[in-house]
Amino acid sequence: MDKPSHLSVILDLSPTQWALCAQSANPTGITLQTFLSQLLAFLNAHIACKDENTLAVFGAFPGQSGMLYSSTGEITSARTESTDANTYRPFRTLDSTLMTLIAERLESYDSTTEEAPIGLVGCLTKALCYINRAITTSSSSVTEIEGAVASVDPRILVLSVSPDQSSTYIPIMNSIFSAQKLKVTIDVCKIFGAENVFLQQAAHLTGGAYVQVERTDALLQYMMMSFLPPPAIRQLISVPTQDRVDFRAACFCHKRIVEIGFVCSVCLSIFCQPVPVCSTCRTKFPIKTLQRLRDARPLAAAAPPTKPLAPKNGTATPARPG
Ligand SMILES: [Zn+2]
Ligand SMILES: [Zn+2]
Repeated sequence: MDKPSHLSVILDLSPTQWALCAQSANPTGITLQTFLSQLLAFLNAHIACKDENTLAVFGAFPGQSGMLYSSTGEITSARTESTDANTYRPFRTLDSTLMTLIAERLESYDSTTEEAPIGLVGCLTKALCYINRAITTSSSSVTEIEGAVASVDPRILVLSVSPDQSSTYIPIMNSIFSAQKLKVTIDVCKIFGAENVFLQQAAHLTGGAYVQVERTDALLQYMMMSFLPPPAIRQLISVPTQDRVDFRAACFCHKRIVEIGFVCSVCLSIFCQPVPVCSTCRTKFPIKTLQRLRDARPLAAAAPPTKPLAPKNGTATPARPG
């Protein structure tokens, strides 16, 4: 551990998903309170590993995202801190700032209205911007930037409880490409719920680890063993990797996750069915190609309903012949 390491943590703080997680019996769930106390132990461990280590925490709330803590001191809790001789000061600042801001944000949500999708993409882009700024302010030329990336060893850890939102496919893919360019590793820890297709791809494409927590009572152990070592150390220790990655994409037209898609040969947009004009780049495709693609589709997807549905009231217009 010669080099300092930067860690950006993205917390999925959807009240509905956390309530479901707390009630879950199989697998055993975990309450938000227990999760946060284990998280603080993990974050403190990261700061304690090395004096120069930096940390930023982002919260994905329903319909919005925001920074909750940064070790460079942009966010501070409004509460005046009492000094405690028995606590290491950076730990105390982190714990109180994070807990106060999370409590404030969560209190403002109305549980009676339907919850908006969480701002995961907002958090990802904010974390990438933060890392980019940290790298570029300390260096000006291209070679210096490459040196800075190597010395900071930046990574993002996503702690997720919410399911995929297929409408976020494009922005998440764009974030993955930016992360690859900045040499940022994205790790994913799935605490509750089904596997997350897009986050699996994010971890796979940036060389990170995707860990599906099977026993929530051992959450801290999962985090300490898999996510505390920076990427450079991971060549020496064995971090769980995925044996199977779900590479499905979402179509650009309906934002549905598709098994078979049709890709525009000009701009690489994905569609769930052959289209005469690409809605992204306006390229027109010849009728012959469309016909060939339609014929090549598997039967189950391509076959039109064989019979029009019989009307229930029996007085509808007779079906046209042919
Ligand atoms: Zn579609
Ligand atoms: Zn196109």
